Amino acid sequence: MDKKIVTRFAPSPTGHFHLGGVRSALYNYLFAKQNKGVYILRSEDTDKERSKKEYEDGFLELFNWLGLKPDQFFRQSERTEIYKKYLEKMIEDGFAYVSKEEIKEEGQRSEVIRFKNPNKKITFRDIVLGDITFDTTDLKDFIIARSLTEPLYHLTVVVDDFEMAVTHIIRGQEHIANTPRQILIQEAIGAQRPFYAHIPLILGKDRAKLSKRDPEVIPALEYKNLGYLPEAIINFMALIGWNPGGEQEVFTLDELVEKFDMQKIQKSGGIFNSEKLDWLNKEHMKKLSNDEVKNKILSSLSEEFQNEKIVPIIFERISKWNDIKNMERAGELDFFSKIKKPQYDKEKLVYKSSSTKETENNLKLAIKTLSDLNEENFTSDNIKISLMKIANDLKNRGELLHPVRYALSGKDKSPDPFIIAEILGKNETLSRLQKAV
Ligand code: GLU
Repeated sequence: MDKKIVTRFAPSPTGHFHLGGVRSALYNYLFAKQNKGVYILRSEDTDKERSKKEYEDGFLELFNWLGLKPDQFFRQSERTEIYKKYLEKMIEDGFAYVSKEEIKEEGQRSEVIRFKNPNKKITFRDIVLGDITFDTTDLKDFIIARSLTEPLYHLTVVVDDFEMAVTHIIRGQEHIANTPRQILIQEAIGAQRPFYAHIPLILGKDRAKLSKRDPEVIPALEYKNLGYLPEAIINFMALIGWNPGGEQEVFTLDELVEKFDMQKIQKSGGIFNSEKLDWLNKEHMKKLSNDEVKNKILSSLSEEFQNEKIVPIIFERISKWNDIKNMERAGELDFFSKIKKPQYDKEKLVYKSSSTKETENNLKLAIKTLSDLNEENFTSDNIKISLMKIANDLKNRGELLHPVRYALSGKDKSPDPFIIAEILGKNETLSRLQKAV
């Protein structure tokens, strides 16, 4: 085909936008870009009651954040005149007619515009699913507009795809049942049939269809607030229902443009696995510069934790930016606080195979050897060498390492004592050990 490839993503701004829509938008974007084509974003806001500006603003902000920039943007509410022309022509040509509707309660009549169904079999080829055949007889003479200036979805979508020269329609499988109606309208207005690719549903981990009640189903913009990277969301959504084969799982948007293959979209549902999302997010975080990571981490922490040395410790433990605040809130960083001293149960200082007396001696030995290190040499490596020298002479290294770690952190679980000591610095380390003695 030598025609310019044109794709479109056509959300209706009638509710919060979910990640499922991101995948449809993404596939349209990828396919257009890899073919040097055009990607259109179209806000389908003809339903005046249900369409809200805030929902449209929401997906515009989302796509901006994700970097899925459309080449063209349209809003259906601004195109009423265009639809009207088509409706008039269809009526004139006998493809549509005004029908009087009985409104039962008041016995009044209102008018709608119906499509004159030719009642025939329609077969269309779907790139994902193969040939699909429908008998349109069951669809009767369906309504395409409430009036000349109030067109409905099936009409506007077909007129727009034609006017915008859309060549490929990539959308969710929930739209399969709409396709025969849309093909009938295409034939009536003399539009060429576009290629269709209906992409699989997104399923929960139990392989059941994700419902609105699932915890995974949150507005897509929430992922921004939770501190996910746009690159990770894109990577994750791309791989639900499609994969390029091979080992690679981490892809940038540019790599996806290159690798995406519409022929390899799966027929059956794709699984939404949030652990995989977290893993991918971490992989993309690792690609950021050290400075970026440092700034992001420090700016997420309160004053009492402002210490560059804790950056690598935090980075190791998070998979998204919001985890930092949560760690702080949960008290997991308290042992690094400049103001909070660890509070603990003193019995817990004693290692299981050890006694109070031995613990006291070991802590004193630790104090002595660490006092010999000067401030500049007070690094986790040197601290480790010094402490290990003593610990290795004991029956069990835990007899020294446990009380030191516990005295410094006051927590059952914490990073190793060498790192904590370096971060606390010499004075604070010795003071905590002294207190433990
Ligand atoms: N506006 C429709 C929707 O939000 C999508 C139309 C289409 O992709 O054909 O479901």
